[in-house]
Amino acid sequence: MKFYSTNNKTLAVSFKDAVFNSLPADKGLYMPEQIPQLDPLFIKNIQQYSLQEIALEVASTLLGNDIPKPDLKKIVDDAINFEAPVKFLNNSTAVLELFHGPSYAFKDFGARFMSRIMAYFSKSDDKLLDVLVATSGDTGGAVALGFLGVEGTRVTILYPKGKVSEVQELQLTTNGQNIRALEVDGTFDDCQALVKQAFNDAELNQTLRLTSANSINIARLIPQTFYYFYAYAQLRSQGINEVVFTVPSGNFGNIGAGLLAYKMGLPVKHFVAATNVNDTVSRFLSSGQYAPKPSIQTLSNAMDVGDPSNWVRIQDLLQVIWRS
Ligand SMILES: *Cc1c(COP(=O)(O)O)cnc(C)c1O
Repeated sequence: MKFYSTNNKTLAVSFKDAVFNSLPADKGLYMPEQIPQLDPLFIKNIQQYSLQEIALEVASTLLGNDIPKPDLKKIVDDAINFEAPVKFLNNSTAVLELFHGPSYAFKDFGARFMSRIMAYFSKSDDKLLDVLVATSGDTGGAVALGFLGVEGTRVTILYPKGKVSEVQELQLTTNGQNIRALEVDGTFDDCQALVKQAFNDAELNQTLRLTSANSINIARLIPQTFYYFYAYAQLRSQGINEVVFTVPSGNFGNIGAGLLAYKMGLPVKHFVAATNVNDTVSRFLSSGQYAPKPSIQTLSNAMDVGDPSNWVRIQDLLQVIWRS
């Protein structure tokens, strides 16, 4: 599979390049060149399969030409080693529990899959892969636990002093092994600026093999499609064929993965993007104007995003959906 940039449809980079560069130079986001359809027979019988079997089928449909299936199976089984059960609240409403991974966030799907993809592509390199990540709290923990003990990798997390919660600080700083956390006397933006400075430092990049574990990495988006298919499989085994997904949204990666799954053939009646007061997307859906605003702090801080970074991906997917 080749990947283009949402700012340049003629770009065609390999999966490996898209993973290690994270962002195209034109500041767009990587998207798969075509969106392959899952085998209809597989979807017809989907209730027979486990989360790991579904993950392998989806991953090999997208990436089968980049990574041989036996290798992909090892990556999937190692990364997705926890469950994602659907629990019914009443006859018509259920929740998909995505907190059974090591950091208790759905970001474990993305972080664990991406770390193993990076380790796989670096296997033949004898240079250590240095992963840099700036965090305001939540992403750092999932990335740290995603890479913990993954051979050939070392993670450096930069976090703002006094600005992450006590639990988050413990998640960042108590891993040991190949994870180190640096407390920065400054804000999240200062942490991000230091990471950017490192990537732009030619001398440093000659010595070290640096990469980012940015949340918009395509290798974090793909594994999030797995649990949409698996949720549908669990509903089907209960005799339910029609499903509406409501997704609490911040950067719109989660619901973006849902739309990607839909484009790959998952039958979904519709999606509801739920936001808090940071409602740039819902304002867009009612007015047709995309008008980002500075984010407003709320209790649901993972959803406090005024200009969702994955929106360009959704637009890209929706153009196709709305046309058809
Ligand atoms: C990350 C996160 C979100 C936002 O997800 P996006 O993919 O950024 O839309 C919402 N809720 C929780 C609990 C999260 O951890």
